[in-house]
Amino acid sequence: TIYNVGSINLDHVYQLDHFVRPGETMASDSYQCLLGGKGANQSVALAKAGAEVKHVGAIHPSNQAVLDQLQALGVDTSLVAFSDVATGHAIIQLTKQAENSIILYQGANHQLTELQVDEVLSQAQSGDWVLLQNETNLIEYTMRKAQSLGVKVAFNPAPMDATLTQKVLGLVDLLIVNEVEAMDLIGTTDIETTLAEFPKKYPDLAVIMTLGKAGVYYFYGEEVVSVKAFSVDAVDTTGAGDTFIGFCLSALMKGEDMTQAMTRACAASAICVTRLGAASAIPTQHEVTEFLAN
Ligand code: ADP
Repeated sequence: TIYNVGSINLDHVYQLDHFVRPGETMASDSYQCLLGGKGANQSVALAKAGAEVKHVGAIHPSNQAVLDQLQALGVDTSLVAFSDVATGHAIIQLTKQAENSIILYQGANHQLTELQVDEVLSQAQSGDWVLLQNETNLIEYTMRKAQSLGVKVAFNPAPMDATLTQKVLGLVDLLIVNEVEAMDLIGTTDIETTLAEFPKKYPDLAVIMTLGKAGVYYFYGEEVVSVKAFSVDAVDTTGAGDTFIGFCLSALMKGEDMTQAMTRACAASAICVTRLGAASAIPTQHEVTEFLAN
């Protein structure tokens, strides 16, 4: 089982001619409300990849429908708590030039309690994993608890907070970062420097670094595994990282080796970038198998 401690957001998307200006009131003809949050997206990817995933988070009880949606996609939501605070959400203005402007309200995502974390992790068994992103509270507390119980910790520090991340790295069994997050941790804007310095700076850490269409690297001490990205016509890269993480962890938990797991995850995220949207763009395990066979 993988316990994914993460955000659940409602993304309110308005397509507009231009961003609302100070003092302006603008009507929007188009409106979509989509399930989002890195946490929820990664739970969906894990479930679609065939993993047994229990989502740990919090929402306001008026949004029960969100849990029904996650359950329909194969995610166990029995460990999601209800909070008096509004469900996390984003108000997204999208222009015809495909620029976006976003208000994010963390809301219930930051209302996890130590009691909830303790109760959840008391069910965990050896061989289980805890996955965290950086969109919920109690990150360090949850990792310490997991470590004390012998449960492995995977961490995707997104959005990046370098101070927090450096502080908790000793509690992490597998770190998963994209190019920008990796560069932030090294303190450079150069990817070549990052690739050279990362294993030197963190020799005891297992890390997966996803580099968009340049593929993906795994470092652990002297060990390096790299897999090329698949060549596809990308239309929307939203959710690529979340899809990668879900499929990669699911494959690793099933006992595949790092090359196999990362190849499968690259295929899944390649399919994702050819489709619009985030959660809805995540392929099924069957689609990934077909893609790899061709
Ligand atoms: P994030 O979405 O977190 O920024 P990346 O951009 O590194 O993460 O993407 C994650 C993975 O998705 C990459 O390792 C790669 O396998 C795949 N991917 C992303 N962009 C493309 C692309 N344009 N073409 C093919 N695969 C892609």
